[in-house]
Amino acid sequence: MTHRATKHKFPNLLTDLLYPPRCPICGQPAPFGLKICPECRLRLPVIESKRCRKCGKPIEDFEVLCPDCAKEEHLYDCGLGIYMYDETMKRAISEMKYKGRREYGEAFGDLLYENARSELMYWKPDCLIPIPLHPARARERGYNQALIISEALSARCGIPTRADILVRTMETDRMKELSAKDRMNNLIRAFSAVGDCRKMRSVVLIDDIYTTGATIDAASAVLRKAGIDEIYFLAVCIGGGFMVSY
Ligand SMILES: [Zn+2]
Ligand SMILES: [Zn+2]
Repeated sequence: MTHRATKHKFPNLLTDLLYPPRCPICGQPAPFGLKICPECRLRLPVIESKRCRKCGKPIEDFEVLCPDCAKEEHLYDCGLGIYMYDETMKRAISEMKYKGRREYGEAFGDLLYENARSELMYWKPDCLIPIPLHPARARERGYNQALIISEALSARCGIPTRADILVRTMETDRMKELSAKDRMNNLIRAFSAVGDCRKMRSVVLIDDIYTTGATIDAASAVLRKAGIDEIYFLAVCIGGGFMVSY
């Protein structure tokens, strides 16, 4: 076991004393017992407008689907990103991924629960599946932020997180020069479903950001092939990747 991995085995109390959990929005220690400051909650980029029925992106009142979903078919059933990916969230998510702020994932898991309770009740998933990181990347980062978010959501909603069903077998960093189709095939090859998925009817993929949906689509393709009927997603943020801007 690496030093990085053992670091997280400390009891929570000691960790909290040594490194008090910080609020993902202002970066300051959060008030005792809270994961996010009450005043910072007011700065969360909430989506007030109507949402795309498929991917949850904000749309105009007269639309049912966003231009992206109207144009191309996604491989999941439907899903939701809670907040806009604005400068505040961009900073928070980047610090969660690259600056060791794993506690932000716990705050985001709580926010997912608060905002997607009715979806979870409606979808009735057998489990939550965090989008996996390649093991080398997870080792380097010390954790997979999607797993932290998913476990925090599980703790609130009681639906188990299963990180043993979908694995990442390939890194997919340098794909900018590939066509969209090659990129998708590469992404699909990057994931593998392991274990027996046939007993599962419905799952929810968990990620930090949803942009074009390519990652969720690739994971859905692999899980569907493994026998899962209904595949949904929940993401903390809905990112760019809009093909048309209003
Ligand atoms: Zn704050
Ligand atoms: Zn859409």
